[in-house]
Amino acid sequence: MFLPGDYHTHSFLCNHADGQLIEYIQTAISLGLPEIGLSGHFPMFLLPPQFHKYAMDISELPNYLATAKELKEKYKSKIQTKIAFEVDFHKPIFSQYEQALKPYLPDLDYLIGSIHGLKWKDYIIPIESSFILPAELARKNIGKDTLLVSYYSDLLELVRSNFYDVLGHFDVIKKLGFTPDDEDRIWESILRVLDALETSNMVVEVNTSGLRKSENELYPNKRIIKELIARKILLVIGSDAHHPTDVGYAFEPTIHFLKKNGLKSVSKISSQERVQVPLN
Ligand SMILES: [Zn+2]
Ligand SMILES: [Zn+2]
Repeated sequence: MFLPGDYHTHSFLCNHADGQLIEYIQTAISLGLPEIGLSGHFPMFLLPPQFHKYAMDISELPNYLATAKELKEKYKSKIQTKIAFEVDFHKPIFSQYEQALKPYLPDLDYLIGSIHGLKWKDYIIPIESSFILPAELARKNIGKDTLLVSYYSDLLELVRSNFYDVLGHFDVIKKLGFTPDDEDRIWESILRVLDALETSNMVVEVNTSGLRKSENELYPNKRIIKELIARKILLVIGSDAHHPTDVGYAFEPTIHFLKKNGLKSVSKISSQERVQVPLN
């Protein structure tokens, strides 16, 4: 079966993941993938200190890029290695991120834009399954729907920023396990993101890491994937590997599922172009 590239991988540099960059590339080669994207978290120094440990330090950046370039060259007869970052989106500090990334853009093939923390007033709520609604929010009767709408409105701003190439783990907010009170209201806010994607140059990632977690579901879910396919929004697949053995995780059943739902091709990405590869 044809397997496309894996555009979302981490490494030991992200502190919460294991393995050297070379091991991710070698796993991809052993699976016969045509491309592998190295997409470590861009340093989170602009975020509150509790987030810093989830990414490499800014001092490690030159070494990351040098190693990635060396490996790209070394393995070029076997696989196309793409150099990327997964970058957080937080509207209040977006322009600072943009400035911080600027010097590195010529070395990068693409950027994944993702949300890992939900800003609500003075809180940045980590999007983690262990999250418990802070007492103050619960006391003020801030509904879960308000947080869900707030997440999708941040996602809409991410798409509108026109800065990223790939939208990462679309509905990762489901990690919080919130069941909406008003499902239609949440769907409306998702549709606004899809409308913006249709007129953007962004590709959406189908992220298989949810299948390794308690949600046991792709990001995004089936309903959103069907809508993406119907609207002909370009898709890539990413394992969000945090260990070399995660590379290409569940790609076969995912491709099967996407084809069954009418997807005819997946995308190859670089900063300049999105080439379509048919799913035969
Ligand atoms: Zn992420
Ligand atoms: Zn990731």
